[in-house]
Amino acid sequence: MKKIAVLGVTGVIGRQTVEVIKAHPERFTLTAFSFYQNIERGKQLIKEFAPAYVAVSDQATAEQLAKEFPKTSFVWGIDGMCQIAGATEIDIVVVAVVGSVGLQPVLKALKERQRVALANKESLVAGGKLIMELVHQGLGELVPIDSEHSAIFQCLNGNTKDQAVAELILTASGGSLRNYQRAELKNVTIEQALKHPNWQMGPKITIDSATMMNKGLEVMEAYWLFGVDYDKINVILHKTSDVHSCVKFIDGSYLMQVGPKDPKQPIQYALTYPERVPVLPQMPFSLLNQSFSFEKMDLARFPLLKLAYEVGRAGECLPAVFNYANEIAVKAFLQGKISFLAIEYLVEKAVNQIANHALTSIEDLLTIEKQTKQLVAEMIKKGMKP
Ligand code: MG
Repeated sequence: MKKIAVLGVTGVIGRQTVEVIKAHPERFTLTAFSFYQNIERGKQLIKEFAPAYVAVSDQATAEQLAKEFPKTSFVWGIDGMCQIAGATEIDIVVVAVVGSVGLQPVLKALKERQRVALANKESLVAGGKLIMELVHQGLGELVPIDSEHSAIFQCLNGNTKDQAVAELILTASGGSLRNYQRAELKNVTIEQALKHPNWQMGPKITIDSATMMNKGLEVMEAYWLFGVDYDKINVILHKTSDVHSCVKFIDGSYLMQVGPKDPKQPIQYALTYPERVPVLPQMPFSLLNQSFSFEKMDLARFPLLKLAYEVGRAGECLPAVFNYANEIAVKAFLQGKISFLAIEYLVEKAVNQIANHALTSIEDLLTIEKQTKQLVAEMIKKGMKP
């Protein structure tokens, strides 16, 4: 029996992870989880699973819930998530929180030699260097949940240091605004940007898909996970999202992974790897008839994807600047404070204005996070726009 901790249990990936756990009660038990704002859903899950540990946002919420559920230990904040991630009885930590708050729990879980099933790409973008140092020391194990990276992981058959790899090809749906020209993006509303054509996802990642920021983050995620140079990582537009990604090998052979547009398969594989067990929904082979359609990415249409490569190649703290600036900008867009195009404008400004620094510890990242968030918040306050 594997004891699972789910950080971000009430989000889209967290909920799907709970479904996977419930489908295999003989294999998995939900021993710990964290949630943030959705306290009602969190309480339901405590009633259903009677977890040993729960992390919440703050001390007051923890104390209040402890009275209601005396058998569960409540902790709070990032420290609380780290306590759960590092608890010795946990076998697998699913990191499904949104944004860079995932980084410290990932580091903690790896230090305690856990398997980390990672849905949180921002932690690898900001702290990939620190995370992979631990993985390369043989501490812990990192298995991707992000559909593109799970696809590549499956094609590589678990071998992440494969010299036989010629190219990694990440597929991109194009996001909610893929049929808009740049001139048409000026007055895009929150509702339009949140309508993803293929995937049911949380609001932050849906906006990131529309700006192609998500694919930019995924390029960096692939760089760290698979140790493949940026000039061998390519993105291709694939509007049906049936091919989740592809590996080209040096002998000219392509392997691609195909499946339904549902995160359960990659979530479950990250939990059962290297074993495979049944999962629903599945996809009829006949659907593949319409799947093999690919187009070149237009980097002038999606400048954040181009910038992602530049930032990724620069490395050190600059990817963190790119990521933190985006986190603040997307939040402001979703609150109606800035326009859609201001997201990329603010990210570009932050990357150009903040000096890159060597990344040697988590403190370097905390400093750059503060600096970036301050700069972007000021620009928003001043009403700076493209
Ligand atoms: Mg993805």
